[in-house]
Amino acid sequence: MVELDAPLAPLTTLRLGGPARRLVTATTDEDVIAAVRAADAAGEPLLVLGGGSNLVIGDTGFPGTVLRIATSGFLLDGTGLELAAGEVWSEAVTRTVEHGLAGIEFLAGIPGSAGATPVQNVGAYGQEVAQSVTEVVAYDRRAGEVVTLSRAACEFSYRHSRFKADPDRYVVLRVRFALEDNGGLSTPVRYAETARHLGVEQGEPVALREAHDAVLRLRAGKGMVLDPADHDTWSAGSFFTNPVLSAEQYDAFLALAAERELTAPAYPAPDGCTKTSAAWLIDKAGFGKGYGSGPATLSTKHTLALTNRGAATAEDLLELAREIRDGVRAAFGVELVNEPVMVGVAL
Ligand SMILES: Cc1cc2nc3c(=O)[nH]c(=O)nc-3n(C[C@H](O)[C@H](O)[C@H](O)COP(=O)(O)OP(=O)(O)OC[C@H]3O[C@@H](n4cnc5c(N)ncnc54)[C@H](O)[C@@H]3O)c2cc1C
Repeated sequence: MVELDAPLAPLTTLRLGGPARRLVTATTDEDVIAAVRAADAAGEPLLVLGGGSNLVIGDTGFPGTVLRIATSGFLLDGTGLELAAGEVWSEAVTRTVEHGLAGIEFLAGIPGSAGATPVQNVGAYGQEVAQSVTEVVAYDRRAGEVVTLSRAACEFSYRHSRFKADPDRYVVLRVRFALEDNGGLSTPVRYAETARHLGVEQGEPVALREAHDAVLRLRAGKGMVLDPADHDTWSAGSFFTNPVLSAEQYDAFLALAAERELTAPAYPAPDGCTKTSAAWLIDKAGFGKGYGSGPATLSTKHTLALTNRGAATAEDLLELAREIRDGVRAAFGVELVNEPVMVGVAL
């Protein structure tokens, strides 16, 4: 299906931004590939759109083809799962739990499509797709052919991958996962908050359904499950990634935190780095839940979600994002980096 001058705001969870010059909706892999080839042959800018839950689209819209991936396919073979890119991720997670399979149960409730999950290596509550993805089938725009990338070739890291590093190269068609049959039990509960909520020790498994439902409850309490009636969920989820600091940056940050008599959360990260919490930084820099008085404010349930209260433009949202980024830099010397993909705009 092709539409011209098509509004994009309703196709995103932030519900803001301008129209697409051309919007193509593809329901088969063949249609996806044909649309990409046609845009590339015409030298037309291309934006691949899944559920629109990690996108900030500028107010002038997109001056090219937006390809909306609406393919379907949930193929289970033993503990192996193949999802078509257009499958709704949260529904697919629930189905794996119903089949008694562990591996992605803590990723319940994350909005968007299956095809986008490897792009930023989605993660929550101690799980990320990098742990269970075995292969990604993608159309390689540079080679002009369908390729299969192994997990190693995906180069996953915290909220990052080869697909994010080279955004104009791959269009994900299918994602393959190796799940686990643990006799109805989840993978070990890794996250302290989830363990507390479930009344177990960190590292213990629980019944799969319990894990899935607990995550949905915790997420809903933070406005992290989509609910059209609740403006706290008109967001792109976490707006900033958790900063990963080098030893030197971490020491400088600790000194500034100590001046304010604050002890910051710290988690070991690869290469001698330390990860701290963006939500903590935002809160302690003076931007509490619900901060802001304009059409874009922080969520009243979570300091990390920037939300559209109904009539916000992309510029309103970015103005708030810049104020927060600059405030955190001034208070703690830490540079916050946006997690959502910016289309035609920059922080
Ligand atoms: C309320 C809320 C809670 C959230 N919670 C979490 C969370 O806990 N953890 C987390 O990691 N994220 C979270 N997110 C962010 C978001 O849901 C994920 O990043 C999700 O995977 C985005 O999927 P999407 O289909 O909506 O992608 P889109 O927003 O449509 O696209 C995002 C990017 O991926 C690209 N893309 C999409 N599909 C494909 C494809 N098939 N091939 C190639 N590129 C593609 C797009 O071009 C774009 O660059 C949350 C978002 C919201 C709104």
